[in-house]
Amino acid sequence: MKILEGKTLSARILGALPARVEAVKARLGRPPSLAIVNYFPDSPSAVYVRRKVAACEKLGISTKLFSPDPAEGYHAFTTLLACLGEDPAYDAIMLERPLPAGFETLETCDALPAAKDVDGLSSLNMGRLFISRRFSEIENSGFFVPCTALAVIRLLEFHGIKPAGMNIAVAGRSAVVGRPLAHMLTCLDATVTLCHTRSRNIAGIFKAADLVITAVGRAGWLKAEMLAPGATVIDVGTNFDAAGKMCGDADFGGIKRTAAAATPVPGGVGPVTLACLLEAAVKAAELAPKTLKGEIALT
Ligand code: NAP
Repeated sequence: MKILEGKTLSARILGALPARVEAVKARLGRPPSLAIVNYFPDSPSAVYVRRKVAACEKLGISTKLFSPDPAEGYHAFTTLLACLGEDPAYDAIMLERPLPAGFETLETCDALPAAKDVDGLSSLNMGRLFISRRFSEIENSGFFVPCTALAVIRLLEFHGIKPAGMNIAVAGRSAVVGRPLAHMLTCLDATVTLCHTRSRNIAGIFKAADLVITAVGRAGWLKAEMLAPGATVIDVGTNFDAAGKMCGDADFGGIKRTAAAATPVPGGVGPVTLACLLEAAVKAAELAPKTLKGEIALT
């Protein structure tokens, strides 16, 4: 089975950023800046936040971490988003998932200003994504799309896998991964079946697919018996086993018998997602209006 690793692509994307960071510094008189809002700093997934901060520091992108207390409530949350949105010191805002219960609303999407919403979850960015009919419109645009979905497309391209004409099954219909990814793949002329907990016969749907993408968040969920011989597997899932070791949704040892190629976890989609996020933060800074100290931007 071919291993579709993501570290080389991640390094390539990150390697193109220092020159762009320098150009931002020359124009704005400061480095690109990313605000990260993370409600659960002690959760296992906080490891990704630390990696983002470390990667930003390495590239000279400034970061500020906000870890509000969920008990402060929803109003404090949207107020924070509004303040970050208006503050010219921040070019980009990243909202870490999960959010506290009840915070994941349509109003949350509206509270994120599109120009700083580097994970593409604001209504405007989502609307632009879903109106786009061709992937080239998405790729060459001035808006932002969910980084993980984009990372999967980039990874396929990097490994020479062309979605056009393929039957692709995606498991997981979240707004951050499954749905935007299914749309991007459709824009690339694939025929996509989007599965979820209420789907009937997922094993049959997966068995008929050339390429399967799993983003359900359940360790060992994808078994070899669910795959057609020679299928390609993209594993977006990021889980932690009982020993605290990171693993994907696929039973990686088992699928080796059937799949032709698969992404590893760790070292597959994750590093590319991180690189796409940093690239988006730099893009936000490139598009940001220049302000004089203490002034609100007018141009
Ligand atoms: P999410 O919001 O919890 O959504 C999970 C989706 O999976 C839901 O649509 C759910 O269906 C579906 N699902 C759950 N169990 C299923 C089952 N047994 N059969 C079929 N569908 C099932 O999760 P998410 O934010 O999309 O993240 C998914 C996974 O990707 C997580 O492991 C997360 O950590 C990982 N992730 C990785 C990266 C990366 O860079 N590698 C980035 C983001 C997320 P319903 O809609 O019916 O509930």
